[in-house]
Amino acid sequence: MDKRYWSSRIRALEPYVPGEQPKDRVFIKLNTNENPYPPSPRVLEAARRAADGSLRLYPDPEACALRAALAELYGLRPEQVFCGNGSDEVLGLCFYAFFSPGKKVVFPDITYSFYPVYARLFGLDFEEIPLNGDFTLPVEKFLGGNGGAVVCNPNAPTGRAQPLENIRRIAQANPDAVVLVDEAYVDFGAESAVPLIDEYPNLAVVGTMSKSRSLAGMRLGWALGSADLIAGVNCVKNSFNSYPLDRVALAAGQAAAEDREYFEETRHKIMATRERAAARLRELGFAVHDSSANFLFAAHPDCPGKDLQQGLRDRGVLVRRFDRPRIENYLRISIGTDEEMEALCRACEEILNGR
Ligand SMILES: *Cc1c(COP(=O)(O)O)cnc(C)c1O
Repeated sequence: MDKRYWSSRIRALEPYVPGEQPKDRVFIKLNTNENPYPPSPRVLEAARRAADGSLRLYPDPEACALRAALAELYGLRPEQVFCGNGSDEVLGLCFYAFFSPGKKVVFPDITYSFYPVYARLFGLDFEEIPLNGDFTLPVEKFLGGNGGAVVCNPNAPTGRAQPLENIRRIAQANPDAVVLVDEAYVDFGAESAVPLIDEYPNLAVVGTMSKSRSLAGMRLGWALGSADLIAGVNCVKNSFNSYPLDRVALAAGQAAAEDREYFEETRHKIMATRERAAARLRELGFAVHDSSANFLFAAHPDCPGKDLQQGLRDRGVLVRRFDRPRIENYLRISIGTDEEMEALCRACEEILNGR
């Protein structure tokens, strides 16, 4: 590729690669942690109602109604809530707002692979701290002496949750740096750090409606923290794009924040399916990590991850695999419906029997 006209800032960048969204054939899609259930009917109704002639007008740049609904949901004040176009965008704005060049940001070596991409984009120094052999977090390596820390809880792609006490220790030990907690999957069984926000002015928590509220296609994410931290994120947002959320997304997001009943029902269904699928995979000989997310992280001692992934693809099932040291044999399998998980397990059985 001819990068002659590219800015020198981006010539060496390696962007994040999202999971495949196939267009050529129908797959059982267990590769991008989407929710197998549709958004709540109330959310769809709110989105339809918002799609009218008012779309000629700009949306509310401050997302006041959505922020009020999220503040209510999380027991915070609206000034402690920032909303953006998916939590990937919010994470990017937070990296820019909170971390300074020349001061090292730390995060685990095995975690959401977008973090190093943001760090490079914004010219930040960073260190990827190796997780322990069992993929637990070496908490003591996150205590102090750095320019910020990012912890994904539960972690992706391992599914492992952090006890709240560890987040508290990390926030406590880094009073001069921001600790950013990515809670994309927290609703599937981990403990949220939001209750610590009023105690730690350096703690920011990022969330999304893509996973537990079935709205990956709507692009709704947020950051929660002290009013001063949130003002910093607004400063970046208003220096880049004043209107990150459109009118339809704002309306859908508000309805989703308010519909707690549907949310509770679907997240519990997914957690129950996850436990059944984990048990089935273990019966097939897989090593499956305990998961607090809407995916499983599993490897089979007798079959390389690459072969399993291809075998599944040949049988119409997509899963994700990261070609990285220590985890190349693991599949990250999103939790679908019971029927989809049954199809996955049958396909795995067939692949393993054919070897
Ligand atoms: C899915 C995911 C996100 C981002 O989701 P959005 O769709 O951009 O809100 C953020 N962090 C992690 C760890 C994720 O897996």
